[in-house]
Amino acid sequence: MPAPADHEFGFELRVCAWAERRWPPDSEEPMSVVVARQLGTERRRWDTVVIETDPEALRRRAVFGSDRLDEDLLHVVRNAPPSWTFYRDALPHPGYPWRYVREAIHRANDRGAVETRKRANRIEIRRIAPYPDWIERVIAIENKPDLDASAARALRDQMERDVAVSLADEVWVATRRTGDRVEPALLEDLPIEVGILALDDGSAEVLWHPHSLATDRPGTVVEERASTSEYGERAARFRYVDPTTKRTKRLAIAERAYERGWRSYVETMRPDCRQFDLERDQNGYVPVCRAKRAVQSAVECRGSCSEFEPEPPAWRQRGWPIDGGPGTAIQRILADRRARQR
Ligand code: SF4
Repeated sequence: MPAPADHEFGFELRVCAWAERRWPPDSEEPMSVVVARQLGTERRRWDTVVIETDPEALRRRAVFGSDRLDEDLLHVVRNAPPSWTFYRDALPHPGYPWRYVREAIHRANDRGAVETRKRANRIEIRRIAPYPDWIERVIAIENKPDLDASAARALRDQMERDVAVSLADEVWVATRRTGDRVEPALLEDLPIEVGILALDDGSAEVLWHPHSLATDRPGTVVEERASTSEYGERAARFRYVDPTTKRTKRLAIAERAYERGWRSYVETMRPDCRQFDLERDQNGYVPVCRAKRAVQSAVECRGSCSEFEPEPPAWRQRGWPIDGGPGTAIQRILADRRARQR
């Protein structure tokens, strides 16, 4: 079958698998990271997100469960006091009605993330543990296996916006190593703040080091670039994002990364198709389609795929060969790895 790197989706999975084992790229000592795919904000989704963490803080984060804490839950969990307190005395005013806070308190209680009790008809809350400061840095990676001039042109505007808003501490482009004396990616017109990483089988080389972005300072969202047309000139429009909003967004991204990891692709694909398989390469498992003889993308791999063949019922009954058919086994392998990585 073609190498996984021949496919953008396969390349993306290899970048994730490599980052999970080897991040940061220029160090012999891999650090503790949480890696996820296709995450970001309402306006921008990054291909790969690497959350650099402190392992001890990550262990303390695990106390709150493997599902993400959304912004409302974080408001409750981060401010819950060590001893029983009326919730309105304990939590800062959220800027929206208290009834929504009460809903969040009940949700947090249902999943064991805070404790609640009722005294004199008032809800009191108490934390189960302090919510740890578990994120050290957020790294955004755009994957472009073939970074030619037109791919770089298409990326440039997006990368400039990433640098301007500086939500991530570093922004990278990952590309496939060609082995040429001068890697073509280096000749392309990308912002100098963006790092360039070249991957081949099992290893990566830093072609260009990124700048560290000022995540603790206001960022700029470019709403519209300046332009000139037959109707005249149009000025650029932008707005600032304050550091507190950035901090909240980074935490929300990290929480989503913690919940999903990068192996959740199997949830939107068809591992129950008899053509679906996993192939192991130096960086971990990637999905392969035996019918297409290639790494299939999540978009291709659906029930509507013309070559979809459901697993024979016999595979699924009575625990083939040990516990469910191959599709179940594949889901279990990926779920186990996701849980173990967490
Ligand atoms: S045949 Fe279609 S549904 Fe089956 S594994 Fe291949 S791409 Fe997925």
